[in-house]
Amino acid sequence: MKFKVLGKYGPFPPAGGATSGYLLLGKNAKIAFEMGSGVFARLALACAPESLGALVISHLHYDHISDLGVLNYYLESLSRKGFLQSKLRLILPKADCPALSAIAAMEYFDIEFVSDGDRVEVNGVTLEFFSVRHPVTCLGFIASEGDKSFLYSADTDLFEGVENRVASVSAALLDGAFLPSQYKIGGPHASCNACAKLSQKTGVKVYVTHLLAANGEDSYVEAVADAPLCRIVAEGEEYSV
Ligand SMILES: [Zn+2]
Ligand SMILES: [Zn+2]
Repeated sequence: MKFKVLGKYGPFPPAGGATSGYLLLGKNAKIAFEMGSGVFARLALACAPESLGALVISHLHYDHISDLGVLNYYLESLSRKGFLQSKLRLILPKADCPALSAIAAMEYFDIEFVSDGDRVEVNGVTLEFFSVRHPVTCLGFIASEGDKSFLYSADTDLFEGVENRVASVSAALLDGAFLPSQYKIGGPHASCNACAKLSQKTGVKVYVTHLLAANGEDSYVEAVADAPLCRIVAEGEEYSV
């Protein structure tokens, strides 16, 4: 398995950047996760969006869903021309918020709700979802195929059991939005420094994402410099699991 970073910023991108969006590639599976601002155009550069096995959304904050409506328009245009074989499988948690009604009204998604502990299969890749710590309902997942597994934390502060979960996978993509000086216990995101420590404790490759654009790239790179297995992701790059 490998994953490609389409967008790595939150809650808004810098000029020319994109908020959360990724592509997970298995042997036969192509799974997008998150569809934030600016992600659709980058997804379309990476593959035909209609060829995705599924799209996974961790939670309904706009930096993770803002290009969903645009993707729906794209699928609609294919359908009108008779080129759409089937609706796109959209996997997300159920949440009591107006954004969910808007998404439910988008005609070209086949919506599948998941919650903590649920497992789903997408073309040979198994996704197992778990609850994380964020102000709204939010699910991370572990994707497994053969002897490889990949953890995506979604948006979260460090949560109970995170170390064991990271220790159980081949690679992890973690929310490390805050620099150590910005981090407060009980906030919506972890610090990049805590992600680096997790890589040191577990010996697992940890990739840090969900950067705050105003912090500048260098501060993040500096904050994780002591952890050789920890990297700050780059948009457009592909990483092996
Ligand atoms: Zn976010
Ligand atoms: Zn969020």
